[in-house]
Amino acid sequence: MNAYVQSVIENVRKKHGNEPEFVQTVEEVLTSVAPMVDKHPEYEKADLLNRMVEPERMFTFRVVWTDDNGQTHTNIGYRCQFNGAIGPYKGGLRFQPNVTPSIIKFLGFEQTFKNSLTGLPMGGGKGGSDFDPAGKSDAEIMRFCQSFMSALYRYIGPDIDVPAGDMGVGGREIGYLYGQYRRLKGVWENGVLTGKGFSYGGSLIRPEATGYGAIYYLQEVLAHEGDTIEGKRIAISGYGNVGWGIMKKAAELGAKVTYFAGPDGYIHDPDGVVGEKLDYILEMRAKDPMHCKPYADKYGVEFVPGEKCWGVKDVDVYMPAATQNDVRMEQAEKIAASGVKYYIEVANMPTTNDALDFLRGQKHMIVAPSKAVNAGGVAVSGLEMSQNSERLVWTAEEVDEKLKGIMKVIHQMSVDAAEEYGLGYDLVAGANLAGFKKVAEAMMEQGIF
Ligand code: GLU
Repeated sequence: MNAYVQSVIENVRKKHGNEPEFVQTVEEVLTSVAPMVDKHPEYEKADLLNRMVEPERMFTFRVVWTDDNGQTHTNIGYRCQFNGAIGPYKGGLRFQPNVTPSIIKFLGFEQTFKNSLTGLPMGGGKGGSDFDPAGKSDAEIMRFCQSFMSALYRYIGPDIDVPAGDMGVGGREIGYLYGQYRRLKGVWENGVLTGKGFSYGGSLIRPEATGYGAIYYLQEVLAHEGDTIEGKRIAISGYGNVGWGIMKKAAELGAKVTYFAGPDGYIHDPDGVVGEKLDYILEMRAKDPMHCKPYADKYGVEFVPGEKCWGVKDVDVYMPAATQNDVRMEQAEKIAASGVKYYIEVANMPTTNDALDFLRGQKHMIVAPSKAVNAGGVAVSGLEMSQNSERLVWTAEEVDEKLKGIMKVIHQMSVDAAEEYGLGYDLVAGANLAGFKKVAEAMMEQGIF
C-alpha cells in the first residue's frame, strides 16, 4: 500500500489507541483511497491525510438537567465539527449512554465522506451526549434538550453547523432543541436543524428518507445484476426509524422484510412486515423500544430470544440497520455460509473491518457500504436546508423524486470511481474514492490549514 497512507494510519493508531471506533473507520477509508493518493503525490506534500483525520474542531460541554423528582443530573455533551471544506458542518446528534469521544469522532469522519457523496454542499459533523433517553418522561426529555441547546447554540447556525437526529434523537427532540435555539437567538433561523416537524419547516419524507434511500440504493444494485426487487425477502437488524422505512418501502415495491432483530432477539415472519403490521411496529416501539417479542405474540410468528438473524438461509438480502459493529467475524462467517448474495450495510459502520474484508472477499456476494446506502437521510436533510433557505415547501413527491435521483447518482459515482481504479464492481472502495475526491479537491484548493 502507498507508504504515506500507511504512515498516516500508523500515526492514528498510535495517537488514538483509546478510540477504537475512530481508528477503525480511518483504516477503512484510507485503505480504500490509497490508489488515489498514489496518483496524487501533491497530497503528501500538503500533508492532506493527516489534516483530514484531525477534526477541525471538537468540543464537550456540560449538560445539567433536573428530573421529575427534583434530582439534578449532569451529562457530557459533544459536537465534532470534523470537516467544513465543502459546506457547513452537517450531521446528527446521538443520545445514548454508550456515546464516547471515539463514537462521535468516527461518526463525524464517516459523515464527511457520506455528505460529499450526496453531491450537496454539506461538510461533516456529529454530536450527542451520554444521556440515556430510555424511561425518561416527556418533560425530562424537554429539559434535557433545552439545557443541551443552551450550551450549543452559540456554535451552530444555518451557515455554520446544522445538527439533526441520530439514535435517541427524533422529531420530538429536534422540536425542543429548535424551540430553545429560537428563544435564545430571537431569530427565525430554522435552517439550523434538520429533521424538524413539518409545521415549522421540516421536509416531507425526511423521517423515512434513510430507509427509503437504502431500498432505492438496493434497487440500483439489483438492476446492475439484472435483477429486480420484486419478491425479495430481506433480513434486517433494527426496527427504529431507519428499519421501519426499509420495511415500508420494501412492502410498497413488492418485496418484504421477513426477519428483523431487536435488542431482545429476532422475529421471523414469513409473510413479511406488511400492511397494518407496519403500524403495529410503531405502536410497539413507542411503548417499549427494547422488546420486539410482542410482535411475535400478536401475529403468532417465531421469536428467537437473545439472537440476531445473521445466518438465516431463506432470505435474499441482509441489511444490518441497528448500530456499529453489529456484524463481527463470527456473524460474517454465518452470513457467507448462508449463501445470501446481497449484504447491504445501512447503520453507520455496522461491520467490523475484518468481517467486512471477509465478506468483500466472497465471490458469491455483493457488499454495499453504509456511507452510500444510508446517505439518503442526510441528503433529504440537505433538501430541507434548501427549502428553509428559499422559504418554500416541496411536495412529498418532489422530495421523493429527488431522493431517488440522488441515490442513483451515488451508486453510479461509486461504480465509476471503482472502475477508474480498475477495481471492478467494488461499491465499498468506490464510495470511499468518490466521497474522498471532492473533499480532497476542496481542501487542496483552499490552502494549507
Ligand atoms: N444521523 C444521520 C446520519 O447518520 C442523519 C444526519 C443528518 O441528517 O444530518 O447520516
